[in-house]
Amino acid sequence: MLAPLTAGRWDLQDLLAEPVEASLEVALHELETEVAAFVAQRDLLTDAIDTAVFFDILRHYESITDQSRRLSAYGDLYFSEDTQNGAALNLRDRINKALTRANNRTLFFSLWLKEMAEETAVRLSAAGTDDFRYFLESERKFKPHTLSESEEQIINLKDANGIDAMMNLYEMITSGFSYTLEVDGETKTLSRDQLAGYYRHPDPAVRAATYQELYRVYAENSTLLAQIYNHRAHDWHNEGDLRHFAQPISFRNLANDLPDDVVDTLLEVCRQNSGIFQRYFELKAGWIGMDKLRRYDIYAPLAAADKEFAYGAAVEMVLDSFTGFSPAIGELAARVFAADHVDAETRPGKRGGAFCYGVSPALTPWVFLNYSGQARDVAVMAHELGHAVHDMLCAGHSPLTYHPPLPLAETASVFAEMILTDRLLKEENDPAVRRDLLAAAIDDAYASVHRQAFFTIFEREAHRLISEGATVDALCETYMANLRDQFGDSLELSDEFRWEWISIPHFYNVPFYTYAYSFGQLLVLALYHQYQREGEDFIPRYLKILSYGGSEAPVKVLEEAGFDIHAPQFWQGGYDVLQEMITALEAL
Ligand SMILES: [Zn+2]
Repeated sequence: MLAPLTAGRWDLQDLLAEPVEASLEVALHELETEVAAFVAQRDLLTDAIDTAVFFDILRHYESITDQSRRLSAYGDLYFSEDTQNGAALNLRDRINKALTRANNRTLFFSLWLKEMAEETAVRLSAAGTDDFRYFLESERKFKPHTLSESEEQIINLKDANGIDAMMNLYEMITSGFSYTLEVDGETKTLSRDQLAGYYRHPDPAVRAATYQELYRVYAENSTLLAQIYNHRAHDWHNEGDLRHFAQPISFRNLANDLPDDVVDTLLEVCRQNSGIFQRYFELKAGWIGMDKLRRYDIYAPLAAADKEFAYGAAVEMVLDSFTGFSPAIGELAARVFAADHVDAETRPGKRGGAFCYGVSPALTPWVFLNYSGQARDVAVMAHELGHAVHDMLCAGHSPLTYHPPLPLAETASVFAEMILTDRLLKEENDPAVRRDLLAAAIDDAYASVHRQAFFTIFEREAHRLISEGATVDALCETYMANLRDQFGDSLELSDEFRWEWISIPHFYNVPFYTYAYSFGQLLVLALYHQYQREGEDFIPRYLKILSYGGSEAPVKVLEEAGFDIHAPQFWQGGYDVLQEMITALEAL
């Protein structure tokens, strides 16, 4: 295919064709009809249910799930295009309202799956596919934590205008922040994403000013934002108590199908390996001519010239690297561009960051970028396309088991970044450029393994402290202690970083999410090690891990590939790979 030359907008017509209002009306009507037919079958759900009848009802449920996801995706993707667009906000609200209603009316099904007698579960499980067996197992694992139907309905209804609405406000408030930065004598007004580009600015004074400006804005709004976080943590805590979870993190662990002890082991191994990155920060200080790095300089560029990448060239580079690893993977990634499912240009009001949205096994995923031509943007493109390829490899599964579980959700994306780096390293003979590439890989590993693990370590403490009525000041102090534990004496830590925790959207939207990044990347390092040893033979094994999607427990999928994630040595293996890279850097 011909790679697109310029970053543009995506096409959402595969979700709702133009004119959208008319399509939406038809889709909502269809959903309503399906839901009504589904509800009419409710009385058939007894322990005496005929197997064939049950699987007919299940197919119905899959179809409603798929339709709901398409509508929900349209609302989210359209709103992401411009978060200040009132029409998009209104449309998304209408869709979400309809989906909440539909969800409440179909809720009885998943409740029945949890409630049915064990013999019934065994009988249905034996008659179904492997996908269905794991789906049923996953549904029933929440059994000890599920409330009565009316209580679940009340929580759903109240969340829509309660905690979910509060998270929406957080996003609206923080998307509206603007930042002022002086660069080369010019005063610029920037969005957070644009500001974030200056973390990597060659001038140390600009990097310092960037962080100072970011936390000036967050500090100014800290009372409001800390209050929202306080509500988030209390709500999480209260619901966790109602549902009998041992610790606040246990809900996430169960959702991830990871035992608490695996997560504790992962976080502890991360904590013990801070020394590796501290060594790297000392090395980096020397390269950029500083006695000691400041926290501002973690992502300082090593290259004197900040190379820019035209969009078309970046697309080609990413697709080529995928194809070099596996032509099948390259082909899947190319399909995302061919379908016009990429929104890459930067625009005012557009949501920040990047993501991939896999909607349905039957649809090519959508990829959202804010492409501004930095080397980092090329890596992000590879990352998000890795997600898309992962989703596409799972197209054979049901909408209920299609999505990879969180612990494996970052496997393909991070692996894709490594493939890109590997390709660039192979083409490069200049030791200075090789150093830059290796260092960029370590920078990334810091950001996505180590930093994310310490985020979760902080959240564990923050949720405990808030439930004990801690002040905002105490939370800031705890955050600073967390950073000191991470950095030791390897760098200078200035005081405004006490506000960093209130600026992390994940803490609000998806508590305890971030360790999944650590899990994902350390896993990838271990897998990559395997690839280097096995070569081609590794590829089918790797594709098999990916193509499981959410149809089997992560522990089992990985065990089959020969990894024991209960063992600290397994995680240490990931850090050993990083250690080797740092040793190689020290020798350059
Ligand atoms: Zn990702």
